[in-house]
Parts: sequence; structure tokens; C-alpha cells
Amino acid sequence: MQTINLDDLKNELEKISQVAKDDFNENLTLKNSNQIKAKYLGNKSQITSFKRYMKDLNPEDKPALGKIINQTQAQIEEIFKTKLEELKLKDLQQKLDSEKIDVSLPSQNSKSGFIHPLDQVTQEISQIFKELGFSLVDGPELENTYYNFTALNTEEDHPARDEQDTFYTELSNEILLRSHTSSIQIRAMEKLQPPFRIIGHGRVYRNEEVNARKMPFFHQLEIMMVDENVNFGHMKWFLNEFLSRFFGKNIPTRLRPDYFPFTEPSAELDAECVFCKGKGCNTCGGKGWLELMGCGMIDPNVLEMAGINSNKYSGFAAGLGLERFTMLKHKINDIRLLFSGDQRLYS
Ligand SMILES: [Zn+2]
Repeated sequence: MQTINLDDLKNELEKISQVAKDDFNENLTLKNSNQIKAKYLGNKSQITSFKRYMKDLNPEDKPALGKIINQTQAQIEEIFKTKLEELKLKDLQQKLDSEKIDVSLPSQNSKSGFIHPLDQVTQEISQIFKELGFSLVDGPELENTYYNFTALNTEEDHPARDEQDTFYTELSNEILLRSHTSSIQIRAMEKLQPPFRIIGHGRVYRNEEVNARKMPFFHQLEIMMVDENVNFGHMKWFLNEFLSRFFGKNIPTRLRPDYFPFTEPSAELDAECVFCKGKGCNTCGGKGWLELMGCGMIDPNVLEMAGINSNKYSGFAAGLGLERFTMLKHKINDIRLLFSGDQRLYS
């Protein structure tokens, strides 16, 4: 049997190792790195092929050859990795140098953000009432049945309390997502001493099927004034004044009798359609009038429940849908668009 000298193999491996190093230094690029790696470190590489000499070695030299092959491979791999890292870094640096960004240049296509139309309208309405002497109050979205119904004079069997209309929570059958912002008024009345003028606004929840006019959540704004001798005429003046400031012109309004548990008498305030000036169009459904808000004189029971002497004080309350006013102001015909996040709607 022909024997092979281990030292000869060692020398051969060293030579290959040197060739590999030279090859890496001279020829390695990011493009050919896989090919070159396979050439020296793959299953069919020259170094791996040295394993075939095992059978010709003296038995005591076999482990030594295995060790040398592995060491040589590890060395070459280490050098390969280092070289490749250098190339990657160099490449990155070149890219950074060639793609320098001058942050002082004006941008080309950037659009600055803007306040959502619903928030714009909310702020605008709040500002108008602020100028009319009203202050802003707040209340929780997660409400209890007392503030949402009972304190607002809503009978125990009123359909609004029904689970089909209101979102109750699993916390308790007393805790619900508020179905209107009128609960804010009750909370404020408990804390404030008349006279006061307040507004409050926020998100409310009702079990509605989604369509162009309805969503299971929307936003309301409440208006309330309590003082001595407040009457229907005051309410009419404030609401008309608000509407003329909001729409930027005096528009004819009318009050139609309506029913709400917490006001007596109650009314629906309509304004002449701002689009067709009363002639009748799609927005007003051909009526020439737009229903804008519910209002009325606060029921004495509601005042008393909040600890206000109804013999001395009276007040009015009104509530409006902020989506309705936003849609009118921005001529949007589908409520769902307000929550689509599509900026083209407002451009
Ligand atoms: Zn109209």
C-alpha cells in the first residue's frame, strides 16, 4: 500500500490556503463572493478533497489530517468573512457618498398634515360658544346608567335603554358606552352652581347599522345654559346666533315640537337648506329645510335631580351631531368618508 506523508499534505494545504488568500485579496467582489466561497469552502473544494488521502495514511496520522483540514478551512473562512465585510462596508460608504442628502433643499412632494375636518368643525363651534360666554366641560365615554338615562329623566322602560340600541359592557349591566353627551351636562350640573353656560362634546355610541348617514359611533356637542328667568326666547337667540356665525350668514330657522325625556317643552331646530336656499335638493331631501339639532327647556325634574332649585332657576339645553355639521360645511355626502383616512376627500 502506498503511504502518503502527512507533512507533504500539510504543505499542500498551506499552499492552497495562500492561493485562497491571494484570490480573496485580488479577485473577491460582492458579486462573485458565492462562487469564490464555494471554490475554497464548498463540498467540492480542493481542501475538502484532501479527505480522500485518509485511506492512504498511517492510522495514527488520520486524526491529525482531519484536524489540519478543519483548521485550514476555518482559517480560510475567517479570512473570507473579514474580506467580505470590508467589501460591504466599502460599498455602503460609496453609496452614502454618492447619495448624499442635502436637508437644506426644499422638499418636492411633501404634504403637510392638517386637522381632521371633524375636529376643525368641533373647534370652530366650541370657539363660537366660547365667544358667547360658554365654557367647556368634559365627561367619560364609559358611563353608568344613572348619568346616561336616569338623571336625564328617561323612564325605566324607555326603548333607548334597550340592549339593542345601547352598547352595554361586560363590567356590569349598569356600565355602558354613553349613547349621548347629555350625560356630560348632568355631571356638570352636579358640580356647578347656577348661573352657568356650558358646552361639552365627545364620541357617543349607538347600535346602528352602518350606512351613508349612520355609524355605530359619532360625535355630539351639547349646549346648556342655566340661570334665573331663562326662557325659550333666550334659547332661540343663542342657537340662531350660533348658526349665523357658523354658516357666516343669517339663515332662516324654525322650531318644530318634538319630545326628549330631559327637556320640556322640546323642539327640533331646522334651518333653511344652505345648499338650495329652501327650494329643495338632494341634501335636504327636497324639503328645503335641514334638521340641525334637538333642543328645549330643561325639565325641572332634571334640574332637581342635579341639586338645582327649579323654582329659582331655569335653563335650556341643545344637542347637535358634529358629523352632520362637518358634512354640511365640507359638502360630504357619506358619513363613512369621514373615517376613511382618505386625504383626497379634503384636497
Ligand atoms: Zn336643499
